[in-house]
Amino acid sequence: MPDQFLRIPPDPGPQPIALPIAVDARRVAACLGSAERVAAHPALAAAVEEAMAQARPILHPVAVCAVVAPREVPLPGPSVAGWDAVEWVVPFAATIGPAVELAAMAAAGEGKLVRAMALDAVASAACLTLTDSLVHHLATGPAAAAGFEAVSVAFPGDEDYPLEHQSRLVSLLPAPALAAAGLAVQASGALSPVKAVAGVIGLTRAVAGGDAGGHAPVGRRACGRCPIRGRCPFAS
Ligand code: SF4
Repeated sequence: MPDQFLRIPPDPGPQPIALPIAVDARRVAACLGSAERVAAHPALAAAVEEAMAQARPILHPVAVCAVVAPREVPLPGPSVAGWDAVEWVVPFAATIGPAVELAAMAAAGEGKLVRAMALDAVASAACLTLTDSLVHHLATGPAAAAGFEAVSVAFPGDEDYPLEHQSRLVSLLPAPALAAAGLAVQASGALSPVKAVAGVIGLTRAVAGGDAGGHAPVGRRACGRCPIRGRCPFAS
């Protein structure tokens, strides 16, 4: 199954996957405290509008993945649900690119601190959508085509999944694709660019024909056990 959609090392690896993301105004407001807080400060609300317009054309959301057997990757501990039945694991790293982050720094350098704060919030909100978009990409495209569905997701730094695993996860990803995406792990263990995320997605064989639990037929969108179904921006 892995070779059908995403090659694993030591193959040269695929190009980074371009991810569609939408900058969600509610998430931007949440990154600034709350929608009420933003609305209460007209200058901040205007800066958010401007920052969203500035950021949209310079967002470059991409992900790099591999597919590995569960024994090859550190998995979350037992308190993280959904990992016991996982058959394949997709370690990934994703980023929106450095441009928005650099724009925020430039605004701060010009003394436009509210604009800088708004740009940083837009970048953070966009970064939060990366994993959702990757899960949906797998659930509707290559994983579904191969008869699998995403059933779990976890991030190093979560409870019962130590941050130290982040470097190991990224080391499993194809180096050429990481380079093409501009993704790297710094000596400190932090990801570069700053607005980036790494994690693991668990895949399990899809339920053929669907079932009473709402699992999708093989090859079709599988929302029933999707790990983001409660907050999915793609569900209709
Ligand atoms: S809940 Fe359904 S629509 Fe949303 S990401 Fe999962 S599979 Fe896609």
